[in-house]
Amino acid sequence: MKPNRRSFLQAAAGFTLSHTLLKRLVCAQQSKSTRIVLLGTKGGPRVGEAGRSNPSTLLLINDVPYLIDCGYGASKQLISAGIALNRLRYLFITHHHSDHNLEFGPLLYNAWITGLPTHIDAYGPPGLTRMAQDFFNYQKFDIDTRMADEGRPDPRQQLTAHEFDKAGLVLQNADVKVTSCRVRHPPITQAYAYRFDAKDRSVVISGDTAYAPELAEFAKGADVLVHEVMYLPGIEALLSRLPNAKRLRDHLMAAHTLPEDVGKIAAQAQVKTLVLSHFVPGDDASITDEQWSADVRKHFQGRIIVGKDLMEI
Ligand SMILES: [Zn+2]
Ligand SMILES: [Zn+2]
Repeated sequence: MKPNRRSFLQAAAGFTLSHTLLKRLVCAQQSKSTRIVLLGTKGGPRVGEAGRSNPSTLLLINDVPYLIDCGYGASKQLISAGIALNRLRYLFITHHHSDHNLEFGPLLYNAWITGLPTHIDAYGPPGLTRMAQDFFNYQKFDIDTRMADEGRPDPRQQLTAHEFDKAGLVLQNADVKVTSCRVRHPPITQAYAYRFDAKDRSVVISGDTAYAPELAEFAKGADVLVHEVMYLPGIEALLSRLPNAKRLRDHLMAAHTLPEDVGKIAAQAQVKTLVLSHFVPGDDASITDEQWSADVRKHFQGRIIVGKDLMEI
């Protein structure tokens, strides 16, 4: 009887302790959890009048920013999200369409001019290093002048560009493991999705892709999948006004994903939450959230979020 009672008391004490620990852990996670902020949700390079900014997605992991893509306006959107530009630390480019990298150089510059205290590591397909060099040459006069005149450090020394040309491990540190998956975005062959496995959450960013079952495999069991989406009736309306309609339609169909197929990917991957982003067309305010998500729901029973700029998930 006695040993039993003691075991019970020990167990009870253990429970209290673990319960307290658990509570502390939950609190720690709440203050340090992985946050996702959609900075720009409009697919394509054209700058819209209002509503959606060009593609960019921010992850804050233990309060460290990880930026995925930087279409035009990414610097402004980061500031709107409350992230000082000199906090920029990790940058990932999914592919070299300009709606995903137009602000690559300017963002590096803006971080530097804000007083970049440490170092930026940028990751992406081949071309990244050249793009950084070309940008620094483009602004060589200003950079050299400010270094000499204002005593600023050399921004070229504050960037490390990491290029990769196949899927695999991209980055691993104490907080997160980042891996990539080659996706289908013809005619571009070097197009990638990224997966961030942090301690509290796993997040997959599709990049631009047509329906790609290998992406479902890559995203298996993730908490959140941020996937691009294209709404065909909206495209047809757009195309009806263009002289190169047929070629553009062929390109869009081969390179992007319709809502029904986004639903299939999310269902196959068994993700908890699907976030729609990179909307094509991204300028047509007449397309409702219901229209974006209706066909997705045919296949995916989980939570669907129709993304908006500066929305936090
Ligand atoms: Zn795009
Ligand atoms: Zn693209």
